[in-house]
This record gives sequence, structure tokens and C-alpha cells, in this order.
Amino acid sequence: MNPSDPHAQVQELRRQLQSLLEAAKANERKLDRFDALERRLVAVSSMEELVNLLLVDCREDFQLDAAELWLLDQDEELRRALPALPMIKAPKLLDSHAGLKDLFGTVRTTRLVGPGHSEALLAQAFDPQAGVRSAALLPLIRQGLLIGSLHFGSRDPQRYDAASGTKFLDRLAAIAAIAIESMLNRERLRRAGMTDGLTGVHNRRYFDHRSLIEFSQAVRHRYPLACLFLDIDHFKSINDRHGHPAGDEVLRQVGGLILRSLRTGDLAARYGGEEFVVLLPRTDLAGAREVAERIRLMVQEAPFITPDGGTVSATVSVGLAMLPAEATSFGELLQAADRAVYQAKRSGRNRTVTHEDAPA
Ligand code: GH3
Ligand code: MG
Ligand code: MG
Repeated sequence: MNPSDPHAQVQELRRQLQSLLEAAKANERKLDRFDALERRLVAVSSMEELVNLLLVDCREDFQLDAAELWLLDQDEELRRALPALPMIKAPKLLDSHAGLKDLFGTVRTTRLVGPGHSEALLAQAFDPQAGVRSAALLPLIRQGLLIGSLHFGSRDPQRYDAASGTKFLDRLAAIAAIAIESMLNRERLRRAGMTDGLTGVHNRRYFDHRSLIEFSQAVRHRYPLACLFLDIDHFKSINDRHGHPAGDEVLRQVGGLILRSLRTGDLAARYGGEEFVVLLPRTDLAGAREVAERIRLMVQEAPFITPDGGTVSATVSVGLAMLPAEATSFGELLQAADRAVYQAKRSGRNRTVTHEDAPA
């Protein structure tokens, strides 16, 4: 530009102004997009809605080629809760901090990863099929703890550039972390209302409600429904000999063994003190016997660890009854299973008795 040419100067100033205006407009559009997303994040009402928003809607709204959500799940809380939810794309659940540490080290701030550096990091953060060339990796932090990470990836190597600002992304990460935590709390509360605090299986209240639904579905769709009633043998003497806390520990571990023996769709509950009930929809007599025996043998073989570090052994008696063979109402089915347990006790305990084999 010729400094003495006022016309050229004006032209140049116009050009600069124009490009500033364009940048401001682009920023405003970006702000609007982030703002809209943040408003939706704070208004979500379920875990699946939240995950879909972060992984599916974000990808569309921000024209990304890949989006990933990692969530720390050390006590397998999410592992149990998520499979039942209708989600288009699921988060990756981490059983340790190791993966997050690889991404963020000790810095724990948003990382913009461009080409040239950290190809290995991109391969770790995304499915290699997605062909991501640049990315934003957002740490999700709550109360000083890293609870997961959100990854936005693009095939465009220039999209995320290490020199760009991360203000919008930092804010989004903070809001996403709050939304995730509040959803987890909500989920915990929901589960607490239907779970037995000691054993982790469902509580009686939930069982009473769900069992009627299971029963009527089995009748309507004409499939078998197996009912197992399990009662710990001589449990009173476990309490008497080893103390109540040791008894509690046996109960807790028996609950865990039962849960581990079941498939999705089966229902296990603590029916009373040391009694459990299990419903197995679409399971015939042979299948139900197999489940009952598997649980019985696992209990028989388990060394139950007591709070003082000792071990206790325990056994269970199991009563088994089937719909349609043994019942025309759910109450009858349960009674038949209960009678079968009684018979198992009378004939020596630590055994499975099927109602049809038990004398009436
Ligand atoms: P059986 O083989 O005939 O079933 O004998 P049992 O001793 O298991 O049966 P009984 O019904 O006589 O005793 C059950 C005991 O379970 C009595 C009760 O104190 C104990 N119990 C019930 N709920 C709990 C609990 O939450 N924790 C502990 N530690 N004990 C419990
Ligand atoms: Mg009992
Ligand atoms: Mg008992």
C-alpha cells in the first residue's frame, strides 16, 4: 500500500474492518451454538438424553466427524445401569484412571490436538476408523476429581489447532461435567428406591411391583416363568457364632453371587432377612434347575470373608416352582417355591427341591 495514497488507505481500512466484522460474526454464531447446547445440557432429564446430546447432537451441530465420551466407572455402577437404556451411541466406561491419565497427564485442561503431534493420542481417543486428524479433548472435572472426558474429532487437520483459544470448550466441559454428575445422582437415588442397600439386589417393594408385571407378561405371551426361593441355612447360628456384622457380610456376598448368576431380564430380590427370591422369565424347568444349582454350589464353595478378616462358610436351600405347571396366580407360584424350600430344609438343607417333587 502506498502510504501517500489516501484512497488505497481507505480501501485497506475497509478490508480490515470487513474481516474483523466477519470474525466477530463467526464468533457470535459459535457463541450461539455453544449457548444453545449449554441450555439443552442443563435441561436434560435422563442419562440417555444426556449421552445422546453429547455424542449424537453435538456431532451434528458442530459438524464433527467423531465424538466420544469416556466415563470413569470404578464401582461398575454405570455398567449395570446403562445397558438397559436406549442409546444410539454409548459412552466408554473406564474401570481405572489410567486412560484419562494418558490423555491429560497431570494438567487436566482442554487439549487441542493437531496433526504432527500426538498421532498416538488421537488413535487412543477415537476409533481409528473415524480418521480423526485433529481433536479437542475435554477433561470432565467435578469437585477436583477427573470423572471422564469428552472428545470432539475432525478429519480436517486444521479444525483444532493447538494455538487456538479453548474458552468455549472449557465452559462446555464444566457444564457437561455438572450435567453428568447430577444425572448420576438422580440415577443413584432412583436405584436406591428399588434396591436393598445391604445386598445390592432389588428390595421387596420393587419385587412386589415387578413380579406382577412379569407374571402377567408370562401368562399373556405364554412363556414359562421360573421362581426360585433361596434361604440361607442355619443363618441364625452364623450370627450367633461369628457376630451380626459377619452375618451381614455373608448376606451381602450371597446377594452378589446371585446377581452374577443371572441374565439381563431376570429379577432378584431380598424377600426377607436371609431369604432371596429370583424370577427367571422364559426359562424352563431344566434351565431354572441349572441356575439354582449354580448359585447353590457357588455359595457352598465360597469362603465368605468377614469384617475381621476371617472366613465363614454357608449354604443355601433352594425351592423351585414353575409357571404354568404350579400356579394360576403369582401368589401361588411364590407359595409353591416356598413350600419347596421347606421341603429342602426338611430333607437335609443345601439342596434344590422342585415343587413338583415335593409332597404337597
Ligand atoms: P434355616 O436353615 O432353617 O433357615 O435356619 P436359619 O437359622 O437360617 O433360620 P431362622 O429363620 O431361624 O433365622 C434367620 C436369622 O436371620 C434370624 C435373624 O436374626 C437373621 N437375620 C435376618 N436379617 C438379618 C440381617 O439383615 N443381618 C443379619 N446379620 N442377620 C439377619
Ligand atoms: Mg428364613
Ligand atoms: Mg435360613
